[in-house]
Amino acid sequence: MNLNLHQLSASFAGGVAAGILTLAAQTACQAQPDPKWLAHDRLRPQPAVVSPGTASTQEKAGQPPSDAVVLFNGGNLDQWVSMDGSPTRWIAREDYMECVKGSGYIRTLQNFGDCQLHLEFAAPVPPDGEGQGRGNSGLFFGLGRYEIQILDSYKNVTYADGSAGSLYGQYPPLVNASRPPGQWQTYDVIYTAPRFDQQAKLVSPARVTLFHNGVLVQNNSELTGPTSWLERAPYSPHPEKTPIALQDHGNPVRFRNLWVRELGKTTPKEFTFGSAVLDRYVGRYETNVSFNREGDQLVLSLEGVKFTLFAESRTKFFAKTTDVQCEFTLEGDGKVAKAVITVGEGPGREVKKK
Ligand code: MG
Repeated sequence: MNLNLHQLSASFAGGVAAGILTLAAQTACQAQPDPKWLAHDRLRPQPAVVSPGTASTQEKAGQPPSDAVVLFNGGNLDQWVSMDGSPTRWIAREDYMECVKGSGYIRTLQNFGDCQLHLEFAAPVPPDGEGQGRGNSGLFFGLGRYEIQILDSYKNVTYADGSAGSLYGQYPPLVNASRPPGQWQTYDVIYTAPRFDQQAKLVSPARVTLFHNGVLVQNNSELTGPTSWLERAPYSPHPEKTPIALQDHGNPVRFRNLWVRELGKTTPKEFTFGSAVLDRYVGRYETNVSFNREGDQLVLSLEGVKFTLFAESRTKFFAKTTDVQCEFTLEGDGKVAKAVITVGEGPGREVKKK
């Protein structure tokens, strides 16, 4: 039903109409509703039903929600690699993983944009070091650009914008909700990726909301650019979806129960595999078809036009600017048997590697 508040105010008793008008005035201050739908539209899709997770205890990690991508829940590091895509030397145990000093940052294979993330961490016990040297790690969005500080801030003073729950170098946490080292602590994050326009200009900054042990410590804080030491770096454009990373700062910080819920556009899934996976596809195929690698991305040259491809799986790739898809078939020894390239609705074109 399409409500007209002026008609309502004329025909309804004054008190009721006044109430509706007050409500309308209040809602006007909030975010604009989706104009595709009427108020109370029965055709509007129902929210997806999700089983809520169960809370963790100090002894045991809880269960993720049913629609979460589980990044680590004990056992193995299948979802994690070093920043260059090679295997990591971090240790995985039955119920936690641990940073190994000098092994470098780790990142997810899967890329994430706007998301809700849960992780649990425990600082080393007995505590070792002071200030930034005690229980230091970090949770990064934007492939190492934006750090939510992880630190043992229990009775350990350091600069405010470098303590646990800070957006490093920019925003101290609203409060210090730290537990003692050795105890499991939770971070629940809502991350909004920055947006850039076609001219690589910043349209909207990265934003972070963070609950530390259930306590709000960042309330939709707007990052001024990448987090860094001693400087305020400006934004530089990057894809909306990027791997999530954890920092090796030389301390054996432990993690468990890491999961992410993607917000907004969730399909197709997107991964960053690095050279170890991509290089086998690189080369000339048939006339006017070749694949190259630029950084962590495969680039298709098709009839003289270049397409930057994104990985949907280890063998399936897609472009974002045009409806181009490419699927490789591998032989038993891992060599490329063929590639099938599809443009729009056209039939797939099968090409062999030379
Ligand atoms: Mg750190």
